[in-house]
Amino acid sequence: MTDAASRRPFREAVVDLGAVRANLASIAERVRPAQVMAVVKADAYGHGAVPVARAAVAAGADWLGTADLGEALALRDAGIDVPLLAWLHDPEPDFAGPVERDIDLGISSADQLRRAAETADRVGRPASVHLKIDTGLSRNGVPPEDWDASAALAAELEARGLLRVRGVFSHLANTSAEEDAAQLAAFERALTAAELAGLAPEVRHIASTAAALRLPAARYDLVRIGIGGYGVPPYSDGTTAADLGLRPAMTLRGRVAAVRRIDAGTGVSYGHAWRAERPTTLALIPLGYGDGVPRQASGRGEVLLRGRRRRVVGRIAMDQFLVDVGDDQVAVGDEVVLFGDPATGAPSADDWGDAAGTIGYEIVTRIGPRVPRTYVGGV
Ligand SMILES: *Cc1c(COP(=O)(O)O)cnc(C)c1O
Repeated sequence: MTDAASRRPFREAVVDLGAVRANLASIAERVRPAQVMAVVKADAYGHGAVPVARAAVAAGADWLGTADLGEALALRDAGIDVPLLAWLHDPEPDFAGPVERDIDLGISSADQLRRAAETADRVGRPASVHLKIDTGLSRNGVPPEDWDASAALAAELEARGLLRVRGVFSHLANTSAEEDAAQLAAFERALTAAELAGLAPEVRHIASTAAALRLPAARYDLVRIGIGGYGVPPYSDGTTAADLGLRPAMTLRGRVAAVRRIDAGTGVSYGHAWRAERPTTLALIPLGYGDGVPRQASGRGEVLLRGRRRRVVGRIAMDQFLVDVGDDQVAVGDEVVLFGDPATGAPSADDWGDAAGTIGYEIVTRIGPRVPRTYVGGV
């Protein structure tokens, strides 16, 4: 082991901002002339909102997107001044700060439209809004039956100078080609109705990573790219990051905290869910569900240790778990990689998702605050 390796923290998430930049630049090139919004909600899917937002802007992202207004305000506080959209609001939202600070509001109801207009009136500047239509995800967004009335109200408030409808948008369920087509048709109807109501949105957008990459008809003026920027595939069909020309940005790594030789028949970890069939060596990995390593992956997840994949044995605990290394030599302090770029031999976040019955999105996003983020690749 090198000195540099021995000085590394015993658990860390290394985030390669160079990979974030390369992924977003590559996607931008593929979707042109559509613009790109880098979605950095949930602390940039666990990667760190501010550093990722800066990398995204450096890569040419035209917009940033968050779910919550608080996340958007934090980006403004960090001095990031590109167009920003936030779309999921408290039932009694405080739109004043966002309107004053040029944060565009995703609007899903007439009530939110009225509140945006009231705020604009009070702070003395128009609210910039993107009206959201529910085309079939059945989450938020104006329901189709209310769309005409909401578009008319928006046009009236726009005529009064209280708001500007800068965008019309929706979100796909990514269910099947047929369902996507039905949602795009519903989106087209909503756009036509918006135009008839007198609205002239500058950006129409419906695609997140999945549709941006595979469904050119969904790109419109802007695509909202979350997971693709982090180099994790949006699909659950076995497509890898490399297949998509993307590179995973996050590597979750640690160092072996203890090594133990055990006899055949020895029970391992809580409940002795696993017993050694023959004498073997265990390595203790200092990460657990308190760090976002899913307990559901007990007995199935794998790590890269001394050049080979090693399986988790016994239950993953809050702070630690064990892997079986057989008769191989391993030492305390050895580097272990839970997930990263499969090109290095490491499992992917999706491999952990498969092991835990979930998706790569959830694996990277839930890596907890106890794991320090280390940034490489500059901005
Ligand atoms: C999270 C989110 C996205 C990004 O989706 P990815 O699949 O991560 O690209 C885009 N749009 C909305 C409305 C979202 O909530």
